[in-house]
Amino acid sequence: MDMTRRQLASAGIAVAAACTARRQESAPKGEGRTEQDASPRHVIDLHCDTPMLLRGGDYDLGARNSRGEVDIPRMREGGVTGAFFSVYTSATRNTELEALRDALEIIDTVGREVDRFPDEVALARSTRDIEDALDKGLIAILLGVEGGHMIAGSLAVLRSLYRLGARYLTLTHSRDTAWAGSSGSEGNRGLSDFGGSVIAEMNRLGMMVDISHVSDQTFWDTLAASTAPVIASHSSARAIATHKRNLSDEMIRALAESGGVVHINYYNTFLDGDYARRSQAWNAANPARPGFTGPARTRAKLAAIGRPPLDKLLDHFDHAVQVGGVEAVGLGSDFDGVDGELPEGMQDISMVPNIADGLARRSYTEADIDKILGENTLRVMADIESHASPA
Ligand SMILES: [Zn+2]
Repeated sequence: MDMTRRQLASAGIAVAAACTARRQESAPKGEGRTEQDASPRHVIDLHCDTPMLLRGGDYDLGARNSRGEVDIPRMREGGVTGAFFSVYTSATRNTELEALRDALEIIDTVGREVDRFPDEVALARSTRDIEDALDKGLIAILLGVEGGHMIAGSLAVLRSLYRLGARYLTLTHSRDTAWAGSSGSEGNRGLSDFGGSVIAEMNRLGMMVDISHVSDQTFWDTLAASTAPVIASHSSARAIATHKRNLSDEMIRALAESGGVVHINYYNTFLDGDYARRSQAWNAANPARPGFTGPARTRAKLAAIGRPPLDKLLDHFDHAVQVGGVEAVGLGSDFDGVDGELPEGMQDISMVPNIADGLARRSYTEADIDKILGENTLRVMADIESHASPA
């Protein structure tokens, strides 16, 4: 989630004819997936804010919705085999205990929605569960908690969220916690001693430490503190678009050296500095008002200022690969969390094959595309699981 205003839905533009994830055509350099390659490809998105829609009570995960960006039919069309659903609660409007209650309600909502479609999706808690889901033709749904405020300053709550299925914790959202600094705050605060205890406990649990949203100082403190690889669940490249939510080359390199993975965010404002400026100017000139808010306002804005091209998104993937290596990059869309402000050709999750096609056009081998689409995520998750130890 990366909007300052959370509008619940965007104009979900249904685009048919996305190709299937299992690619038949040969790839550059003769390393393409072949007919003999019987194993389906893992395609795993680390950050979807779809629970916000589900929580509204009128969004059906099993239907192809005319709004929102993620549902089972569109995940199928996009060849998506796994998605982390974000447990997001406001860090600014709630107390930590209110946020924790919201988190539990969101986890309940996701669990009940997954239970409605046992032939389509399965709640996954491990890499083994993800593999099992793929074998059974099910889409793995996982949970990531987007903001350390939801542990309410308690390692017991952290452990309980893990027991309920949370497999990453984003250390902050847009505001500092008592123990970690956020990129949304000015102070560039680092990790406190208790923050170090949070990292140590996550390492012990085998839970992924997510540095998306944190301050630069907290990024570096976290990398120093963690004994397991660290991930960014939804962050792009600062060298392509200057934004505090994006990662510098030094950060991408350090994350990669930890064995971690940067999952690229698709939000227009993080992808394209020119878009960010146009968006800011349009927002100032066209404030929200009754009858002109949410998806209608977003549609008007996109009609006025346009979407960045898909190539801008591909530039971020490409840059992160150049800096961190092809083992260090994955998918972190932020679908359903950015009010529909997504690039051309990536308006919803059915369009994920456009990333594979775009990277192939840039001479990526099919083996490398497989890494970016999901294998890197599985690898880092397995590595982090292997750090788990009894209390
Ligand atoms: Zn976010």
